[in-house]
Amino acid sequence: MKSSDLFSRAQTLMPGGVSSPVRAIKPYPFYVERAAGSHLATVDGTDLIDCCLGYGPLILGHAHPAIREAIERQLEKGWLYGTPSPLEIDLAEVITGDHPGIDMVRFVSSGSEATMAAIRLARGYTGKQDIIKVEGGFHGAHDAVLVKAGSGATTLGVPDSAGVLADLVAHTRQVPYNDPEALETLLANDDVAAFILEPIMGNIGPVLPDDGYLADVREITAAHDVLLILDEVITGYRVGIGGAEVLYGVKPDLATFGKIIGGGLPIGAFGGRRDIMELVAPAGPVYQAGTFSGNPASLAAGSATLRHLHEHPEIYRRLDDATRAIGEVAVDAGKGSFVRIGSLFKHFFRDSAPQNYREVKECDTEAFSRFWRGMLDAGVFLPPSQFETNFLSAAHTESDIRQITDAYGSCLFA
Ligand SMILES: *Cc1c(COP(=O)(O)O)cnc(C)c1O
Repeated sequence: MKSSDLFSRAQTLMPGGVSSPVRAIKPYPFYVERAAGSHLATVDGTDLIDCCLGYGPLILGHAHPAIREAIERQLEKGWLYGTPSPLEIDLAEVITGDHPGIDMVRFVSSGSEATMAAIRLARGYTGKQDIIKVEGGFHGAHDAVLVKAGSGATTLGVPDSAGVLADLVAHTRQVPYNDPEALETLLANDDVAAFILEPIMGNIGPVLPDDGYLADVREITAAHDVLLILDEVITGYRVGIGGAEVLYGVKPDLATFGKIIGGGLPIGAFGGRRDIMELVAPAGPVYQAGTFSGNPASLAAGSATLRHLHEHPEIYRRLDDATRAIGEVAVDAGKGSFVRIGSLFKHFFRDSAPQNYREVKECDTEAFSRFWRGMLDAGVFLPPSQFETNFLSAAHTESDIRQITDAYGSCLFA
């Protein structure tokens, strides 16, 4: 059955025909039959280079042999125990070893769960009620953070969700990204438990931190006894081993993880300073629990992924070179602005690189849509939104990069 027919069926069965909003590509999404390496094969017989990569988790590409083998080996031993398994100790050791700010972790099943629990923990630890997030920052789809959220919510133009209680959201304050003065002003007047932010804004961009911004954020939050939660769900193991914490040298009180640490299977984790983490149940009074938390298949896939990255740190260098090459073509086109860091990249249809959510929203989304469609016709699948980051994986070959670069050039010059 073709994608158009499948989508007609799906629309009567699932809201909008999809399982997550940004997938509802117009007029209908393509359905994938299989994926391997850097490529997707659609049910319509089209082959595409994938620069979406499941929205970030697949840094080694699809169906990487080492990860598949780790999952298969685990499947033979069962995939849900309801008791601890040695796998979780191994992955916890790797994550705490790679992040100076992370003494302990708790595994959960998604990034959303991780940020939800980290916020609860921050409130439990400080006894304070409010949290601050960054405008356009995305931390998953739970109530406390669905205010001016990035990702699908920005794409659809409904940053505030129906069904979220105004009373609850009243405890979520906002500041613009790259604006330490706004944070300072808010903290001078408010009773704030935590500031949560994506160190690099990945769900409207990437939008990069100005020099010194994250250091300022660390200093200001510490001065006001406010916990700093770095949401590293995208940046963790994406911008390098140790994520943004190590890249920028900013030590959080708490951090959240997901995506890459599960090797493409569902996972999340939150962690941080020991004295804070020891408040999590059953060690302490902040409750958190999950049937699938620390599930063996995700842990096996995640461990194998992180092991591979540790054994092949040159991957990061190669991916950085690749996005630089794409950027050179984009800059030659003299249209819009190209932003990249490591394997994250994006073309913004705006004259200069955006510094925050307000500037991102000034982009010409119609120009983006034409560009996106052109890239797809040229065999390159980019996330279908001006407000989602493009990714590369270790599986992208030199010839893939050339095809992406050529397509970029011809679509931008068109
Ligand atoms: C994807 C993402 C989340 C949510 O993770 P899920 O696994 O989709 O729940 C949270 N924070 C950031 C920064 C993300 O990119």
